Amino acid sequence: MGSSAKSASYADFHRRSLEDRDAFWTEQAALIDWHRPFDRVCNHDNPPFARWFEGGLTNLCHNAVDRHLKDRADQNALIFVSTETEQERVYSFRELHVEVQRMAAVLKAQGVGKGDRVLIYMPMIPEAAFAMLACARIGAIHSVVFGGFASHSLASRIEDASPVAIVSADAGSRGGKVVEYKPLLDEAIRLSSHKPSSVVLVNRGLAPMAMEAGRDHDYASLREQHLDAQVPCEWLESTEISYTIYTSGTTGRPKGVQRDVGGYAVALAASMKHIFMGQPGETYFSTSDIGWVVGHSYIVYGPLIAGMATIMYEGLPIRPDGGIWWSLIEKYKVSVMFSAPTAVRVLKKQDPAYLKKHDLSSLKALFLAGEPLDEPTARWIADGLGVPIIDNYWQTESGWPILTIANGVERKDSKFGSPGIPMYGYSVKLLHESTGEELTGADEKGVVVIEGPTPPGFMQTVWKDDARFVNTYWKSIPGKLVYSTFDWGIRDKDGYFYILGRTDDVINVAGHRLGTREIEESISSHPNVAEVAVVGVADNLKGQVAMAFVVAKDSTTLGDAQAQLKLEGEIMKLVDSQLGAVARPSRVRFVSVLPKTRSGKLLRRAIQAVCEGRDPGDLTTMDDPSALQQIRDLFA
Ligand code: AMP
Repeated sequence: MGSSAKSASYADFHRRSLEDRDAFWTEQAALIDWHRPFDRVCNHDNPPFARWFEGGLTNLCHNAVDRHLKDRADQNALIFVSTETEQERVYSFRELHVEVQRMAAVLKAQGVGKGDRVLIYMPMIPEAAFAMLACARIGAIHSVVFGGFASHSLASRIEDASPVAIVSADAGSRGGKVVEYKPLLDEAIRLSSHKPSSVVLVNRGLAPMAMEAGRDHDYASLREQHLDAQVPCEWLESTEISYTIYTSGTTGRPKGVQRDVGGYAVALAASMKHIFMGQPGETYFSTSDIGWVVGHSYIVYGPLIAGMATIMYEGLPIRPDGGIWWSLIEKYKVSVMFSAPTAVRVLKKQDPAYLKKHDLSSLKALFLAGEPLDEPTARWIADGLGVPIIDNYWQTESGWPILTIANGVERKDSKFGSPGIPMYGYSVKLLHESTGEELTGADEKGVVVIEGPTPPGFMQTVWKDDARFVNTYWKSIPGKLVYSTFDWGIRDKDGYFYILGRTDDVINVAGHRLGTREIEESISSHPNVAEVAVVGVADNLKGQVAMAFVVAKDSTTLGDAQAQLKLEGEIMKLVDSQLGAVARPSRVRFVSVLPKTRSGKLLRRAIQAVCEGRDPGDLTTMDDPSALQQIRDLFA
């Protein structure tokens, strides 16, 4: 279908994906290997649930690793670079196949079987990818938790996923500073009512580990016992579960976004072709972390499924210097790069000469996602690299881009400020905030929604909680069910969308999605905190930062600036230890009362507006106007 798709316009391609859905996705499904063909493309009999490729048997690890052994066994598959530990290791597909089987054998020997959960709490080291692929291989469900999260965040995920085994490491490293994982993991297991029967630990020699006899195992020793392991791929029903990944929403409790096997594999393979245009044998460099969805889709599975080498990078973009990423592009002839606007803003502060020092001629495009891309940043990097900068908008829930441009189908220009147009498979609409009516005109602001059925790769449900999936995300409008992205958007006359921020209490700090409620819950656990409101405030570097406003239980302790600084420090430390430094507010300010409505609802949006120097809008429902004045005074 390659040639017909090339000649078709993108508009036709998109229309076909919706109007001739089954034929369209049958063609995409041919991009992966099936052990047994599917007999139904999309089962949408029980909306909003969409089941893709029923009857088909396949395996993500087979598609990412084994199927490449025939043609590219000796080509690079996984390139590990750590500027923290000064290590660089390259695994060919053949070597990756061997390591994944060793890890799979270790997990099986620890009692992990099909359908069992394995929680992966790891720094950016090859064993993290081995563990993910090993789970996929044996049909275990992985749940990767970002290494920057601390004990409480980790505990709630252990509780919800109830893993048989946890794979972790002694430590990560950031900016040359060792970040110990093991004590946080031990504390998380202590806090959780679920206890894993086995903890497999990669000892990097960065920090001492207290091992709990019977539960904790050293990975290197276990691996030694399985050097010749041959663990065949478990053929899975397309609709079985491949993984869960936790993400934040309106309530404090994180949601386990659940993904299938076949639909996800097809979605990634199709995106590699139509959106990222990566060719087998080339190198893909995504600067994300395996703890985020981008790491799942575009560090581990997507590039490998496409037969590309993938770079796993541990370190900062500016260490040892601001040229490190560009040097990797040159060294490994990276053709596709994926990063986040914040990283580019960090690089923008470096000497521009770094961009000129390296041969970047292999690079075909830079994709940026996770947060809004501002025009100065986009222009700076576009000028510096001389390749297309492709903004793309999506979510943990979607697994792959919702809005961008698909240059593999038809070359289109990006518009600064817009992530692009709806991708094939997505019927994206805008709904009026209060009436819920569909907005069809140009430049009208509404809530971005997706009409079901959602395409392959999209979340199947919330882990163990179908009702939460339906109630959180879906609403009916006349004649249809739509999925809410919880983002505001507008669409211009050419059909390009612009994303204007979240409709809920989720904030986006440097591309990291955080729930303000989670941060509030953590801060509330401080003995001297009576009430707290956390809001996201615009920031030049990180896009947004969290700011906390606290009413102390005993305000007499806050007499002077020094006492306030002390409590602020205590609160920040508390958040660091419970949620992780990613969630730490940039400032904690003290007030005697928080702005609320007469019915007692916190007016977060009004607080945010004041912090950003904007008009807080209609305040007629506010209980005590002096509350907002206090916040104004703090910023005066
Ligand atoms: P996450 O689930 O962590 O990927 O966060 C998803 C949220 O990040 C979306 O709902 C948006 O609010 C925001 N987001 C992601 N990509 C973009 C983008 N390209 N432009 C603007 N906002 C984005």
